[in-house]
Amino acid sequence: MSLPGKNSIPLRVAIIGSGPAAFYAVEALFKQKDLAVEVDMFDRLPTPYGLVRHGVAPDHQKIKSVIKVYEKLATKPNFRFYGNVELGRHVSVADLRNYYHQIVYATGAQTDRALDIPGEALNGSHAATEFVAWYNGHPDYRDCQFDLSQERVAVVGVGNVAVDVARILCRTNEELAETDIADYAMKVLRHSKVKEVYMLGRRGPAQAAFTNPEAKELGEMPGADMIIFPDEAALDPLSEAELAASGDRETKRKVEILQEIAARAPEDKPRRLVLRFLVSPVELIGDASDHVTAMKIVKNKLVESRGKLSARPTDAYEELPVGLVFRSVGYRGVPLPDVPFRDDWGIIPNEAGRIIDPESKQPLLGEYVTGWIKRGPSGVIGTNKPDAVETVGCMLEDLNRGATLNPALHTAQAAEDLIAQRQPNFISFADWQRLDQIEVERGKAQGRPRVKFVDVDEMLRALGREPIVEAVETR
Ligand code: NAP
Repeated sequence: MSLPGKNSIPLRVAIIGSGPAAFYAVEALFKQKDLAVEVDMFDRLPTPYGLVRHGVAPDHQKIKSVIKVYEKLATKPNFRFYGNVELGRHVSVADLRNYYHQIVYATGAQTDRALDIPGEALNGSHAATEFVAWYNGHPDYRDCQFDLSQERVAVVGVGNVAVDVARILCRTNEELAETDIADYAMKVLRHSKVKEVYMLGRRGPAQAAFTNPEAKELGEMPGADMIIFPDEAALDPLSEAELAASGDRETKRKVEILQEIAARAPEDKPRRLVLRFLVSPVELIGDASDHVTAMKIVKNKLVESRGKLSARPTDAYEELPVGLVFRSVGYRGVPLPDVPFRDDWGIIPNEAGRIIDPESKQPLLGEYVTGWIKRGPSGVIGTNKPDAVETVGCMLEDLNRGATLNPALHTAQAAEDLIAQRQPNFISFADWQRLDQIEVERGKAQGRPRVKFVDVDEMLRALGREPIVEAVETR
């Protein structure tokens, strides 16, 4: 049999997920000069772009301009989008093996990591990832409730997600009105009584995970004074020595930014954002109705362990009177049906993107992974580009040595027939472009980038379709 990848038999690739990692894999495939390739991209939501739509903060529109690159790829004739189609519900891995030469999982990290402290399950304690999905209009999270009648909120963690959450809580109504934040979220935030937001870092300023522009932006908000205690902004001797030895200019600048903010006098703005260092939550305390009323925190000191500065608790405790808590200590991947998963790392086990069968310890034929579900939830959008290039490199190597799946049905039409049979309400890229246009038009009337659809049935009706109750068997 001749190898796929020629015009006579194009290489058929299924990509599961439609976020940046998925699109950078498409880009890397489409860049190959002598490769005839067709990509079908699946997303369980009708809308493409993953975390660019449902993760990137609504007041960071510039970051979303990467979509232009993805749109260009998606309108090529050898690309098809199948939105509203879920792996394990409408199509199975066995189906994909029957229709594609190669399969790439690019499903990101869809859940959060827990703190594992007493009281974590109290009312008013939430995953930041849920709040982010809620304010970004993710259909699965639009019914979430966050009690913004509370005056004091704690955000645990000092990564960029924690920064996004703290910033959105501190934005003025006028600032929010210019964004594409979900309409329902804007209404709730408009009536927010939040006065004080604590961001809690377990280590020191030199170890803060947020990036420098994000830290600077926090200190420049019109509606909130940023407070850092000067003693917590000062470097401990271990961090000082580590920074001097590494010569890391970005971290040095980060510490300077934070110390500059710590030296400022507050300007009596309506809200206060208090960034604390060297503290860890140890317990959430609730009232008789199981609603969080306070957080007990312990002061930490830094110690060197395995070549890294880690937080070690002291015996000094404090209590923060907070009625709302967001844990923002990292995302976590979730397993996909019939795809290997490493529960301890929250990723699909792989070597450079080739999925490794946990039993045989050998690469699975024709199955690959890219993005956060490959390497864990780290890096910015652009980090997914070299990551996808690495995965596609493995795919091409395997293709060249004939190590692909051998699908019985390998035409685009055969795949579309299957999908239409399993999910008649699949959303094509042209359908999405129509939805996109409606969202942008609705936004224009309000001086906003777009007003998002937040409900799948509403999206279908806007396309003149009737939602149907599904009874689907995939195996
Ligand atoms: P992250 O950058 O990994 O930050 C996680 C934070 O949680 C760190 O401060 C970490 O502290 C802390 N943490 C972990 N376990 C903890 C515990 N048990 N108790 C207290 N603190 C704990 O993760 P993220 O904020 O979820 O962001 C994920 C990725 O998306 C990052 O690469 C981020 O840069 C990126 N992102 C970028 C943007 C942007 O570019 N604007 C926006 C959002 C997200 P330690 O360092 O001590 O572990």
